[in-house]
Amino acid sequence: MTMHRRTLLQTGLALGSLSALAGCATLTSKAPAKAQVVVIGGGYGGATAAKYVRMLSNYQISVVLIEPNTTFISCPMSNLVLGGSKNMAQITTPYDGLRRQHGVTLVHDRVASIDTQKKTVSLPNGTTIGYDKLVVSPGVDMHFDSIEGLQAANASGQILQAWKAGAETTALRKQLEAMPDGGVYAITVPEAPYKCPPGPYERASQVAHYFKQAKPKSKVLILDANPDVTSKPALFKKYWSDNYKDIVEFRPNHKVMAVDAKNSSILFDVQPNVRADVLNVLPAMRAGAIAQQTGLATVNNRWCGINYQTFESLVAKDVHVLGDATLAAPAMPKSGHMANSHAKVAAAAVVAQLSDLAVNPTPFLTNTCYSYVSDKQVIHVASVHQYITEEKTFKTVPGSGGLSAEANEREGTYAWNWAQNIWADMLL
Ligand SMILES: Cc1cc2nc3c(=O)[nH]c(=O)nc-3n(C[C@H](O)[C@H](O)[C@H](O)COP(=O)(O)OP(=O)(O)OC[C@H]3O[C@@H](n4cnc5c(N)ncnc54)[C@H](O)[C@@H]3O)c2cc1C
Repeated sequence: MTMHRRTLLQTGLALGSLSALAGCATLTSKAPAKAQVVVIGGGYGGATAAKYVRMLSNYQISVVLIEPNTTFISCPMSNLVLGGSKNMAQITTPYDGLRRQHGVTLVHDRVASIDTQKKTVSLPNGTTIGYDKLVVSPGVDMHFDSIEGLQAANASGQILQAWKAGAETTALRKQLEAMPDGGVYAITVPEAPYKCPPGPYERASQVAHYFKQAKPKSKVLILDANPDVTSKPALFKKYWSDNYKDIVEFRPNHKVMAVDAKNSSILFDVQPNVRADVLNVLPAMRAGAIAQQTGLATVNNRWCGINYQTFESLVAKDVHVLGDATLAAPAMPKSGHMANSHAKVAAAAVVAQLSDLAVNPTPFLTNTCYSYVSDKQVIHVASVHQYITEEKTFKTVPGSGGLSAEANEREGTYAWNWAQNIWADMLL
């Protein structure tokens, strides 16, 4: 450490605070010209990290982003495609902006393995790419084996998750359209933690909104392994009873054990079987396979333990893990906004460490989760999280954050603008 080390970022960054970052970028003149950061995964965490390492290093550090998909399709807002008020094109953004505007090298492939000793990642064709720092943001994988029969039912296309936006989102919408009026759509919710706490309830609301317009005799069943709605419970339940009274039914403490695709049924550990016309079964989730196979998923081979100040893995030096794949700190949701916020703190730490600058000792994270309960009405929950040095974790700042008083259309506008802004913040 030199006498002149400076902190790269003194505070967390609000979404879209590009002018603040432009100032910070000038602090990084010590970044070694040949340093290379490799990022695995171009989702909310990885794409943001790729862009911000470039910006915060004043474009001196090379960044290679490895992501199999050629366009980014957003999970946030994908429930609106199921509800019918948006289409896939409206939630899709090309990755090109990262290359053209930020000089990120894009490799459209899936990383097959990581060698944390040699500091290389390998692609399926045997190509290896070296790194000084590696950012791993692979999101979650569905734990299909936790529910008997689910893998086969998914492979045949009969029981879908659509928990990664894309082909399954379109296929699930088609199943809903094909369902006769008077039919039943059932969504199951796994025990927390899982990707996007309010996501299943937003989806149930979107399907109910669609049924109310197009198939009013139909039902939405929410079969939840948890004892209650896990996010914004009072707001969701009030909206359902005021607007979807004869459509939505919420059943807590329903843990799925197996699916019977032939009879279109779900089997639970205690409760009676449920038959439905469209089954949307969400199994337990865990850090993406690449994190598991590299030994980064230190907690029950499920979530990746990290140093919360820098997001560096607890078991692999110079490997930083972000987003849904991480073991969450208290009250930290697995959300796109949170992954974007992780990425900025991690990018700042990576650039600081490669530039011989001090790492920010007390970073902040922010989160807002908007949920559409109809095509226009929205509810939100927000929080601010600060790193507590003595406890080596993030905790919510007392008095910060908040909750909608009730569903309203103004927040519908805010929510769609939030999406436009975060996509631009990650990708443009
Ligand atoms: C229906 C739904 C609604 C949601 N709504 C909201 C919302 O309103 N607000 C919100 O904040 N969050 C929302 N979320 C949650 C949000 O989508 C996730 O929390 C967020 O995507 C996590 O970001 P991530 O970077 O950790 O992972 P992801 O965004 O999932 O990105 C992971 C990327 O890694 C890539 N990858 C995986 N393995 C490899 C490999 N081996 N090599 C290369 N690439 C790899 C994948 O292709 C993927 O692109 C929602 C989620 C769902 C499912």
